[in-house]
Amino acid sequence: MSRLNCPFCQIEEQQIIFQNELVISFRDGFPISPRHTLIIPKRHIASFFELTAQEHQALFEALHILKTEIDQEFTPDGYNIGINDGLAAGQTVMHLHVHLIPRYKGDCTDPRGGVRWIFPEKAAYWL
Ligand code: AMP
Ligand code: ZN
Repeated sequence: MSRLNCPFCQIEEQQIIFQNELVISFRDGFPISPRHTLIIPKRHIASFFELTAQEHQALFEALHILKTEIDQEFTPDGYNIGINDGLAAGQTVMHLHVHLIPRYKGDCTDPRGGVRWIFPEKAAYWL
């Protein structure tokens, strides 16, 4: 996936909800919860591990600002913060993005385990 066919390199100005010098943020196009938000580096890189120290800092600053905004607007009860890094880990858009996923009490039957549910048969370690 090059810049030319990368959906995140085609994000339009009006979709951007926050940006700083190095990262931009917009709502996920197929949200799994209200205010599901993505944060990406402006630079087209695939992996979290390619971030420079400055991009890393800019990304985490944005994460905190966006979380505070969502808290004020929707008062979620928790968050999942996630990166699918690499095809084997489920990444479908090969431009690094951090998922900021607000969670709401009762939004699923039993939220315990969170990201462990990528392997449902191993998730419930407490049973
Ligand atoms: P991942 O599986 O982590 O690569 O997730 C890709 C995410 O990008 C998914 O949550 C999609 O809903 C989201 N997505 C894909 N295309 C677009 C798009 N054009 N605009 C906004 N979000 C998108
Ligand atoms: Zn891109």
